[in-house]
Amino acid sequence: MFKYLPEPVYTKLVDVIDNGAPLDRSIADEVAAGMKRWAIELGVTHYSHWFQPLTDGTAEKHDAFVEHDGRGGMIEEFSGKLLVQQEPDASSFPNGGIRNTFEARGYSAWDPSSPVFVVDDTLCIPTVFIAYTGEALDYKAPLLKSLRAVNEAAKAVCHYFNPEVKKVFTYLGWEQEYFLVDEGLYAARPDLLLTGRTLMGHESSKNQQLEDHYFGAIPPRVAAFMKDLEVKSLELGIPVKTRHNEVAPNQFELAPIYEECNLAVDHNMLIMSLMRNIARNHGFRLLLHEKPFKGVNGSGKHNNWSLGTDNGILLHAPGKTPEDNLRFVTFVVNTLMAVHRHNGLLKASIMSATNAHRLGANEAPPAIISSFLGKQLNQVLDHLEESSTDELINIAGKSSMKLDIPQIPELLIDNTDRNRTSPFAFTGNRFEFRAVGSEANCASAMIALNAAVAEQLMEFKQKVDALIEKGEAKVTAIVSVIRQLIKECKNIRFDGNGYSEEWKAEAARRGLDCETCCPKIFDNYLKAESIAMFEKTGVMTQKELEARNEVKWETYTKKIQIEARVLGDLAMNHIIPVATKYQSELIDNAFKTKQLFSKEKAERLSAKNIELIEQIAEHNTYIEESIAQMIENRKRAHRIEDEREKAIAYHDEIAPMLEKIRYHIDKLELIIDDQMWPLPKYRELLFIR
Ligand code: ADP
Ligand code: MG
Repeated sequence: MFKYLPEPVYTKLVDVIDNGAPLDRSIADEVAAGMKRWAIELGVTHYSHWFQPLTDGTAEKHDAFVEHDGRGGMIEEFSGKLLVQQEPDASSFPNGGIRNTFEARGYSAWDPSSPVFVVDDTLCIPTVFIAYTGEALDYKAPLLKSLRAVNEAAKAVCHYFNPEVKKVFTYLGWEQEYFLVDEGLYAARPDLLLTGRTLMGHESSKNQQLEDHYFGAIPPRVAAFMKDLEVKSLELGIPVKTRHNEVAPNQFELAPIYEECNLAVDHNMLIMSLMRNIARNHGFRLLLHEKPFKGVNGSGKHNNWSLGTDNGILLHAPGKTPEDNLRFVTFVVNTLMAVHRHNGLLKASIMSATNAHRLGANEAPPAIISSFLGKQLNQVLDHLEESSTDELINIAGKSSMKLDIPQIPELLIDNTDRNRTSPFAFTGNRFEFRAVGSEANCASAMIALNAAVAEQLMEFKQKVDALIEKGEAKVTAIVSVIRQLIKECKNIRFDGNGYSEEWKAEAARRGLDCETCCPKIFDNYLKAESIAMFEKTGVMTQKELEARNEVKWETYTKKIQIEARVLGDLAMNHIIPVATKYQSELIDNAFKTKQLFSKEKAERLSAKNIELIEQIAEHNTYIEESIAQMIENRKRAHRIEDEREKAIAYHDEIAPMLEKIRYHIDKLELIIDDQMWPLPKYRELLFIR
């Protein structure tokens, strides 16, 4: 920017980026000209507003740098107007009824806080996507609002401790899990191709039971892919760092170092599409579905989240002095309190038809949000809770500083005890939200978490200020509110095994949200306390929340509907005909055996085949009847107008049938001649590289 912009423009733009100063339209033309110059030097011919609609992907429309020159010719041109705002023909993005077709206008508007980037021959400009009437139609707009809300609320609380702080940043370090499959095998699996997961397939005799894949040697073809991906990521400014094998065969993980949340979200969206493209160059297909294969672990994202100040303080990290540690405890406890108050909402923020396969299975966080703190932090909080104000000890010889924060051991920072079963775990200097879907836009979870924490910090400040007004010393006021909060949010703390049945019962007793039906989990967005929270923090309006829920329900229905159709087609066109053919061969064999041998001998020799003939007939019949039933159920569900009710019908009456039909297909897979079986099997998909 320094090289391509005039000095005053540069200064103004940096002020916009760093301090959120309002964007001065007068500089837009010069910024656009500088961007164009930079981009053309990189061989760019087109530009695109890049945005994140309410699908789990990104959208872009490419335009060449071409304008009329006013004399019947054309010139290369990119004006400030085109940089700042565009009106994509966007009537076909999900909008939940916000944009009726007659006013189907949506605007994309430049987000200067996320750098433009170049992919191939296109200059991509990160933008928000909003309706003509101002409502957000994307993830970025509410994310930016949530970041502003946390900044303001956290800064105010931070000022109790560090009055010099000018800005609080939200940090996000995501870890991205994914599968790779051979491209040729992928092409022979219509279910993978159309739904992103295998709708059938018997478990391979060997899968992950030997635990030999996690952190194992990376296969050379995969290593080549990773290296290529990392080079391209670094070229785009994505600071990738970690790569390793994951638990399941052919499953891997990629993680950059953490960045400011908005940028980290953009980078995650960008890298997901980058990974898709690069995988293809290496003869792979990338699977981001949360559960592509039954019987082995699925994929998720871990969102490592924390707050930090412009002068380098990590607010979720313990410090060296009692004051620092009081600040640390303040931010940890307020975060816990926010998670406690909005645990159902946080679950809704990561829920989807695809992630539902993973949550609650014995491999990923359960469908109940709780927080793991580890032994030491628990001790610190317990100690604070139990000590009474009278007992406040005098630390560091400062008589005015009566502060009962025990010495926080160094070990806490190392955070040696880990709990993989916890959906929201404290990991030394941050919280790790582990329930996010691998395919999801990280922003969804971050919007809910940021907004909830902002609301909580605002209320915390009010309470502390009220005590101070009554004459309480600042530190005593802070400690006494924290003590209160520790008591209130106790139910969210759980360090035990999140996979266990006992926890489900215990969580219900504690009043945590235990709903498992995905469309009903979305209801959390429309609970009175959620709407109040989003409105109070200025992150989303009730109208936006309602519209977004319509989109969620609709998407849920469509995903199950597509799976049901694909399974129906595959069963009727691939499986049943092949099973029938093999069955005929067995019948033929049985008849011929009878002709060749004596009755008694023939009976003995054909006994197994006759058993199989019968089994195939049973499975075939079950499959055919169930497919017919599933079509009936779909027809019935289809007539329901209310999107929520329709999604629930798909959840209750169609999704379970997919599993039942699959069971019979998988049994057939074990019976039918391998030569005849029309689909690549798990052992091929998961082990052939
Ligand atoms: P894990 O042991 O959980 O696999 P990694 O070393 O892979 O952890 O790191 C997870 C992510 O957490 C990385 O992106 C890392 O940069 C990020 N991270 C580390 N510290 C923080 C922090 N204070 N706030 C947010 N993210 C962080
Ligand atoms: Mg992690």
